[in-house]
Amino acid sequence: MARTVVVTGSTSGIGLAIATAFAAKGDNIVLNGFGKPEEIDTIKNTLESSGGGKVIYHPADMTKPAEIADLIATANSTFGSVDVLVNNAGIQHVEKIEDFPIEKWDQIIAINLSSSFHTIRAAIPLMKAKKYGRIINIASAHGLVASPFKSAYVAAKHGIMGLTKTAALELAEFGVTVNAICPGYVLTPLVEKQIPDTAKARGMTEEQVKNEVILKAQPTHEFVKAEEIAALSIYLASDDARQVTGTHVSIDGGWTAE
Ligand code: NAD
Repeated sequence: MARTVVVTGSTSGIGLAIATAFAAKGDNIVLNGFGKPEEIDTIKNTLESSGGGKVIYHPADMTKPAEIADLIATANSTFGSVDVLVNNAGIQHVEKIEDFPIEKWDQIIAINLSSSFHTIRAAIPLMKAKKYGRIINIASAHGLVASPFKSAYVAAKHGIMGLTKTAALELAEFGVTVNAICPGYVLTPLVEKQIPDTAKARGMTEEQVKNEVILKAQPTHEFVKAEEIAALSIYLASDDARQVTGTHVSIDGGWTAE
């Protein structure tokens, strides 16, 4: 039976790959994120034609708790359940702490951490009532280790790891699992955009940043593919993964083994 899968920030990058993978399995999808209406329409049509499930788009801004509550309520009123929740929306800002704009700190904590509290809070009663649910938080290698100049991002991602474990304990007896995925670098717009700022902060060329900062962090010296993170999400949402809860899976080319 088709499940209802809500993926925040699914108009681009990793979230789009995750939504695409679930849609291909025939699940109903709730898309979310920013983008041009015609591009979002194209995504919607492509996903619908791939697996036969229905796809809706909700424009909730992940800095706005009331809009986030409406995202979950709309998913439930449209499809009758929220079975899989993927908290993926995220942004980055790269700057020294002493120069880090206060409003950027607040925005990153809101989008990369608090939005997941709001989605989970709204989804819990629905999942508990069905005695079924899969919550997947897209954290990061930066949920486990730090890098300089990414204070807000690293703090938010470490926070997500704590929220994941707490929610898992509260939901363990209700058929609901909660896990985090910790990717290394994936070449999405989020990473492409930070290359010039990282170059400035470190006094390097953009090419040096790619090879000496980004790919140096990963012993495989290769980017992780968004589709590989999607495949891991499909596993964590499967019946086989029902005893996997309150933990994380790293997919980082060996980065955090060092
Ligand atoms: P991306 O920039 O390609 O996509 C981000 C998505 O979030 C987009 O759909 C965007 O519209 C949406 N978004 C941004 N602000 C939003 C807001 N206020 N409200 C609603 N949606 C909003 O980035 P990505 O690389 O695919 O990142 C997705 C997630 O993966 C993030 O949580 C990121 O931290 C995490 N991650 C990325 C990498 C990487 O290397 N790219 C590594 C580890 C973790």
